[in-house]
Amino acid sequence: MIPKTDSLTATIRVDEAKQKQLINLYQEDEVEKPSAYVLFMAKRKGCSITLYEKVDKDGKRKAVFQGPDCGKEAAIFGEEIQYASPLKRPPMVPYRFFEQVGSDEVGTGDFFGPIVVCAAYCDRKMYALIQEYGIDDSKKLDDEAIKRIIPKILPYADYSCLTLDNAKYNDVQEKGMNMNQIKAKLHNRALLNISKRHENAKACQDQFAEEKLYYSYLKDEPEVQRDIFFLTKGESHFPSVALASCIARYHFLEKMEEMGKEYKTSFPLGAGEAVDAFAQRFVKKHGAEQMKKVAKLNFKNAARLQ
Ligand code: MN
Repeated sequence: MIPKTDSLTATIRVDEAKQKQLINLYQEDEVEKPSAYVLFMAKRKGCSITLYEKVDKDGKRKAVFQGPDCGKEAAIFGEEIQYASPLKRPPMVPYRFFEQVGSDEVGTGDFFGPIVVCAAYCDRKMYALIQEYGIDDSKKLDDEAIKRIIPKILPYADYSCLTLDNAKYNDVQEKGMNMNQIKAKLHNRALLNISKRHENAKACQDQFAEEKLYYSYLKDEPEVQRDIFFLTKGESHFPSVALASCIARYHFLEKMEEMGKEYKTSFPLGAGEAVDAFAQRFVKKHGAEQMKKVAKLNFKNAARLQ
């Protein structure tokens, strides 16, 4: 028997910040509340959303999504989803569209090369373009595909790409800033740069730190992007994050090529054994001083060099 997906429901529990996000996201589709037990209700194609009035002991409220799209709607909030349905396993959760600005970074796991953070805007037109080019996850595209596809998309994209080169990275790292703090500051700046131009876009991020921790890294920033939808593997949930991820990767590869030309070599990616071997040859040829300009010196690879 084929289960009726219309009767599928997905339930999540949301704290106050997420309640705000939820109401904000579905405001356009708001309908009259059916009872006093309901705080907010919305109906859109493929899904109805009900946020209940009752607050549990953790200060959270229950949000119930009902209809064939309930899985992907509920997934936006990054909470554990409970399904009640004739279906035994949860449905696939492909991303669904809303106007958005998403951010992602690249280079944080590579001993050589900069950190690049990108925020990109995605409206319906861009979403269609992304689908046409199959950019739904930068990890699925190899470097050659990134280099071929991204230049075709860049002229139509509204994005902000911030590059922290190795000299600067080593500088701020020596001053005591950790990787997460560095990432948070770059994500925040990139998101602000783009969301300022798109009042109705929601901010999304490939999550690398707990929400509270993320905002604590930004406590001294003059301006902070709020109301972000945080999700790990964000590139599989938000088209804007997928796009940002690809653009960041493209710029990172360009920068690596530039660096390679300067030293007449080709820098390896990652932080494994091949990278250690390469680093040794590099130091022999160019001297340890040059490492500051091409590598992240707080990585274990640097310690292994001595
Ligand atoms: Mn990421």
